[in-house]
Amino acid sequence: MTTPNSTSSASDAALVLFSGGQDSASCLAWALDRYARVETIGFAYGQRHHVEMQARLNVRAAILEAFPGWADRLGEDRVVDISGYGDLAESALTREAEIGFRDDGLPTTFVPARNLVFLTVASALAMRRGMSVLVGGMCQTDYSGYPDCRQETLDAQAQALTLGLGRPMRVDTPLMDLTKSQTWALAHKLGGDRLVDIIVEHSHTCYRGERGKRHDWGYGCGTCPACELREKGWRDWKAAS
Ligand code: ZN
Repeated sequence: MTTPNSTSSASDAALVLFSGGQDSASCLAWALDRYARVETIGFAYGQRHHVEMQARLNVRAAILEAFPGWADRLGEDRVVDISGYGDLAESALTREAEIGFRDDGLPTTFVPARNLVFLTVASALAMRRGMSVLVGGMCQTDYSGYPDCRQETLDAQAQALTLGLGRPMRVDTPLMDLTKSQTWALAHKLGGDRLVDIIVEHSHTCYRGERGKRHDWGYGCGTCPACELREKGWRDWKAAS
């Protein structure tokens, strides 16, 4: 590990898109392991579940406490309210609706172009903070049918941001080719059982926002697509490790 210092360059610093879920918590750890200065950004876009916003704070606080070396690197957190966009997007994540598939084959949980909006807003903050790297937990392996999670989309977005900002802006997607099982393995590699425990206990993935029942893989309803993916990944990882 290198020690953060005041002369760190833009490429030593990364802004993590941090929702408080398993994926972005793993991305945060990945960034803390790699960059001298790390900040986080979250988005309030009319999510049905305020538990997500609380999960963000809890994961950050637990990491700060458990990993002093990372705590030195972890800087500001910011939440940007883009609820007007959420109103426009109207998916099952932002209003009460059935979680399933739409007539065009996309999941009802798809918020149109969500990741592109997030990255664009994040790039404005990154530029102001002198950072040239954005980190996101997008993943095309356990592909839920979200076209804005594909590598091709994100490559195009990084290029658009670089052109539009007039300076380099990279998008790191460490989970892009990992299965959910491999994401658990990555967390374990980065922070051992302590980090896995933090992610299990504090991160939130469930689409229904349930925190009532504690499973060995964390809290959630256990039946929505997000819980099913998380549970399957956990079981596969446990079986393989
Ligand atoms: Zn669930």
